[in-house]
Amino acid sequence: GRASGGSGRLNPKNRAAGSKNLRVKLVLLGDSGVGKSCIVLRFVRGQFDPTSKVTVGASFLSQTIVLQDSTTVKFEIWDTAGQERYAALAPLYYRGAAVAVVVYDITNSDSFAKAKYWVKELQKHGRSDIILALVGNKADLQEERKVSVQDGTEYAEKNGLFFIETSAKTADNINELFEEILSDCYDQLPRDLA
Ligand code: GDP
Repeated sequence: GRASGGSGRLNPKNRAAGSKNLRVKLVLLGDSGVGKSCIVLRFVRGQFDPTSKVTVGASFLSQTIVLQDSTTVKFEIWDTAGQERYAALAPLYYRGAAVAVVVYDITNSDSFAKAKYWVKELQKHGRSDIILALVGNKADLQEERKVSVQDGTEYAEKNGLFFIETSAKTADNINELFEEILSDCYDQLPRDLA
């Protein structure tokens, strides 16, 4: 996998010696079309491929990251691929997830409203110690922006979420998003994250 690269927070110099292998279940939630699959492909393959599309069922990808103390973190990434439309299936999907990434499209207010719905749902029914990230994607489309940075920031602050705006198209902030998640996971060691 790709190294997380240069983040001071990930430097485990102050931590006890001894490496671990962790599995982290990570789910993506958000309206169809906000860019969930593209974000995952950016992270896992370093590519933006708007043509690749899973048509049926959830897709599953994994990405292993090796930290400086040789701890390996294997992200098991679940992408709903449209199943978010079937609300009844959602709990099956996010059950046991250590990390949830809730994505909206900054050019689409409805998708922001839906993201808030998912945050509430996860806070109610997800793991009590779930790591939640709110992501405003398509940040490259500034001229079409409908959701302000402030709206995202304020909602995230009120609800104790990590917030970042990304572009899967330009790769802007994609690594930063996963570095933050990795850092939060690392902080929770030695809990079982899988
Ligand atoms: P999903 O349904 O949430 O998985 O969304 P997809 O990843 O399939 O993306 C939906 C559409 O949005 C595709 O046409 C992508 O090319 C486009 N898209 C995804 N991310 C971005 C982005 O950051 N910027 C722009 N401009 N388009 C994006």
